[in-house]
Amino acid sequence: MLTFKNRTALVTGAGRGIGKAVAELLAANGVTVICVSKSADSCGAVAAGITAAGGKAKAMAVDVANGAEVAKACEQLLAEFPVIDILVNNAGITKDGLLFRMTEDDWNSVIQTNLSSCFHFTKYLARPMTRARWGRIINMASVSGIMGNAGQANYSAAKAGMIGLTKTLAREFASRSVTVNAVAPGFIKTDMTTEFVNNPEASTAILAQVPLKRFGEASDIAFATAFLASEEAGYITGQVFAVDGGMAM
Ligand code: NAP
Repeated sequence: MLTFKNRTALVTGAGRGIGKAVAELLAANGVTVICVSKSADSCGAVAAGITAAGGKAKAMAVDVANGAEVAKACEQLLAEFPVIDILVNNAGITKDGLLFRMTEDDWNSVIQTNLSSCFHFTKYLARPMTRARWGRIINMASVSGIMGNAGQANYSAAKAGMIGLTKTLAREFASRSVTVNAVAPGFIKTDMTTEFVNNPEASTAILAQVPLKRFGEASDIAFATAFLASEEAGYITGQVFAVDGGMAM
């Protein structure tokens, strides 16, 4: 049993895949969840599903890559909720390609969506957490940020940046009992990985690097994230929790 004392969480990228699984699991544990995604349809459907199942949720369409939009959304939310206790920075994209073919736009959009979004959301939402002397920030990194991955210079740099940000903020906020951790998924079956999972050659090559010899499920990541968000994880901070079938050990 994990304990959540009437907490409120904001999950970015909650419209699909890992973020959806995290939002639904937190809501099933009594947490009020603000579901953020780029399209109003995807976060709206997830929030409606949570509400229909008896949970508490609100949908908000925000382009997390746009700092001004994030600032405005956080301002609105903090007028409604005095504190958002749990922040899951999960929204992410890939724009893969070998370095010589990677455009500046591919670089910038992945850095802004995956990494700068964490800076913006944390800057606005962490202050009330520090005042409340309780908070949980979980950044969805990746094994690519730990090991590197050919073809993902932008993505692995963003994910490694999230790990550095996690460790620094863990130190900055520790005296206020706000913990900051990263989860580093391996290959998880979501829209992001469909083209690899459904390609027999690619999936054989990927699974050769996974000691557990299978792809992960979004629920595998949700369980680890919910644990880090719970009361029980209060003595864990600055860590990178790999959930990757053993890839990065
Ligand atoms: P996904 O199925 O592609 O879902 C991505 C979610 O992020 C969607 O809800 C999408 O919103 C949202 N998003 C993307 N860009 C956004 C933007 N600019 N503003 C707001 N929301 C935005 O991805 P996933 O596989 O669940 O991945 C979730 C996180 O885990 C990502 O950070 C990813 O890098 C990380 N991760 C995934 C894997 C994996 O194998 N799947 C492995 C390692 C790490 P819409 O629904 O509106 O499009």
